[in-house]
Amino acid sequence: MFQFFRYYNNTSFFLSLSLCLLFSLPSLFPARTLPGDFLPADLSPNATWNNFVNFIDAGKGANFSGMSELKKYFHRFGYLQIVPDNFTDLFDDNLEYAVQNYQKNLGLTVTGRLDAGTVTQIMAPRCGVSDARKTSSSDEIHVTKHYAYFYGQPRWRGSSHTTLTYAFSRDHTIDYLSPSDVKDAFRRSFSRWSSVIPVNFTESDTYSTADIKIGFYGGDHGDGEPFDGVLGVLAHAFSPENGRLHLDDAETWAVDFKSSKSKAAVDLESVATHEIGHILGLAHSSVKDAIMYPSLSPRTKKVDLKIDDVEGIQALYGSNPDFSYSSLMESDISSGWVIGRSIKWLTYLVLVIVGILL
Ligand SMILES: [Zn+2]
Ligand SMILES: [Zn+2]
Repeated sequence: MFQFFRYYNNTSFFLSLSLCLLFSLPSLFPARTLPGDFLPADLSPNATWNNFVNFIDAGKGANFSGMSELKKYFHRFGYLQIVPDNFTDLFDDNLEYAVQNYQKNLGLTVTGRLDAGTVTQIMAPRCGVSDARKTSSSDEIHVTKHYAYFYGQPRWRGSSHTTLTYAFSRDHTIDYLSPSDVKDAFRRSFSRWSSVIPVNFTESDTYSTADIKIGFYGGDHGDGEPFDGVLGVLAHAFSPENGRLHLDDAETWAVDFKSSKSKAAVDLESVATHEIGHILGLAHSSVKDAIMYPSLSPRTKKVDLKIDDVEGIQALYGSNPDFSYSSLMESDISSGWVIGRSIKWLTYLVLVIVGILL
């Protein structure tokens, strides 16, 4: 009896500790900074998005001047399907649903309100590709998978070992980085993807016939996805087998932050790696550390593929025979993938203990 009592007490303690850990996990992460802290006001990155800071703490029923602009934002990125002409400044049911889906897709706490963390995320510089996506059919079972595909799950066809060519536009360039620096950044970006899937990339001098066409464009450049100046939308790319990869020429693109002092400098290689993921068929991921997460802060280098990216792209193309997961594990130790699996195993452990007790 004594033994049982003691065992029960120890187990209770562990059970309580486990549950406390489960529910206190969010507090283990650093608090999000407010937009003003991470986007210097003098940058004026995107006047419309900057105004969203006025909506912090707004929820359903609120009526704020300019809320219709936020609805346009959600419409643009795939969260509101109704006709933009009908947008009002009322925080209505549709907007609440959009906010909830946005929070879910971006890996935020789902509150349905415009809390500070959500508004910060909305204002962050990001990719122009919509967040509308086809998630894996097994998502509901394997909750730790967060990668996604475009509708129809398009990919490049061809033999099992494909070679895709890429070329840079001669007309749409930037003059403050050397062509070799730009090419080197892209070569490294392509090589990260080719190291995990059986697809090779080779540079071509013939832009018109290359599979992947890369260029720097400003404003409305004829593909229905106009760029918006400094920060805001940084770049976009099209799903397979379109091949167009466009970078906003209004950004201060950098290959080395030591020589590029601008507070608004954006790392070219990080954005290139992300956009190549779209070119290959990946949509946006809700794993914050993944390359396919939609936003990237200025002066941030984020170039390593995470397990979520690798699982997503290998499900489309298969694995490169030389690829090994062990090389990824170290860099991915703090990622949501590992945390997600830890939570899952901790939950199993708690359930097993409860089962033993009963
Ligand atoms: Zn993107
Ligand atoms: Zn474009």
